[in-house]
Amino acid sequence: MPHKHAVYLLIAIVIGVVAGIASGWIWGPAMQSVAWIGNVFLNLLKMMIVPLIVAAVISGIASLGDIRKLGRIGGTTLLFYVTTTGIAVFIGMVMVNLIQPGVGIDASAAEIPAKVIGKEDTGISDIVLLMIQPNLIESAANTQLLPLIFFSILFAAALTTLGDAGKTVTDFFCGINDAMMKLVVWVMYLAPIGIFGLVAGRLGKAGGGEQFMNEITAVGLHVVTVLSGLAIHFIVLFIILLVVTGRGRAYLTGMMRALLTAFGTASSAATLPMTMECIRENGVSKRSVQFVTPLGVTINMDGTALYEACAAMFIAQAYGIDLTIGQQIIVFITATLAAIGAAGIPEAGLVTLVIVLEAVGLPLEGIALLLAVDWFLDRFRTTVNVWGDSVGAAVVDKLVPDKRE
Ligand code: ASP
Repeated sequence: MPHKHAVYLLIAIVIGVVAGIASGWIWGPAMQSVAWIGNVFLNLLKMMIVPLIVAAVISGIASLGDIRKLGRIGGTTLLFYVTTTGIAVFIGMVMVNLIQPGVGIDASAAEIPAKVIGKEDTGISDIVLLMIQPNLIESAANTQLLPLIFFSILFAAALTTLGDAGKTVTDFFCGINDAMMKLVVWVMYLAPIGIFGLVAGRLGKAGGGEQFMNEITAVGLHVVTVLSGLAIHFIVLFIILLVVTGRGRAYLTGMMRALLTAFGTASSAATLPMTMECIRENGVSKRSVQFVTPLGVTINMDGTALYEACAAMFIAQAYGIDLTIGQQIIVFITATLAAIGAAGIPEAGLVTLVIVLEAVGLPLEGIALLLAVDWFLDRFRTTVNVWGDSVGAAVVDKLVPDKRE
């Protein structure tokens, strides 16, 4: 997208977000009537995810030419993701221990929310199984991206062994990828109105400003804990970006369209097309955009990890359960894994929170305490998730440069 367009579009998106918040706040439920506009935008983005991810990963990896080259970039990517997720959880745990948001909360009336019923058996082995699924069409239909990425990596690996015969197929997927990225730019122009519809509609569904404030104040300290933790982690990621790549404000500004879309949609998967386009416009090599970003969207969720740690500790505090250091370490590990397992869809983090709670024997009923404000916090953690992926692409690109670009 030409630079001038990107600047105008960003201004229009900011206006969309502000107008969405203001109108949802003032007119409340009446604004649900504009939610469909947001859903059109959301569906257009979602429509692109599967073809984009398959084409991007296959063309990105196959164009390495030799699958052994995947080792370095893959290893660096995973190391970056695990480290930053760990930092996020650590920040969350420090904040929740400092602020103690759950102390004094009345947890007596809570019941297990319908959303997590039946998920009690979710365990860590399920996260491994998430990657290898028997039916790719079904995975695609359910936007389960990890099996698609896993298959695409294997497929691309096979292509690189075929020599000239494989080249035609690689070119085919490169063509699909380029066409998809063109589509993304077209859809991007709808972002201001789409995000307006999503934000206004969601705030309207929550009953408008007054009702929303009542709900927030009930668990006010929890909201403060999560938001300040997320803000700190956002800055930490910025510093990592600055130190490793020398990039700073301009990179962040270039990512703003994707970050605001993440805020509007509460889905890092739906935001993926925008994320990839913004990272590419920021000058990161095509290879890194195609490989690092799709993987990041599925497994790198710093905001979600931070949130899960805060939420689990909040529940422990609300029920007056003292967690030992050993148990807090288990929260640390399971929050990291639960975030890896969470899908990039709205409020997925709330469901995988079950894994963390079960691991240390905390009551699942506690989730009910967080329900009313989860949609709101989800938007901020999704934004941090997407920021983590964006920084990841730039950092990996710097550490393992693509010599062809
Ligand atoms: N909504 C988040 C995302 O899409 C996941 C979550 O934390 O619920 O990244």
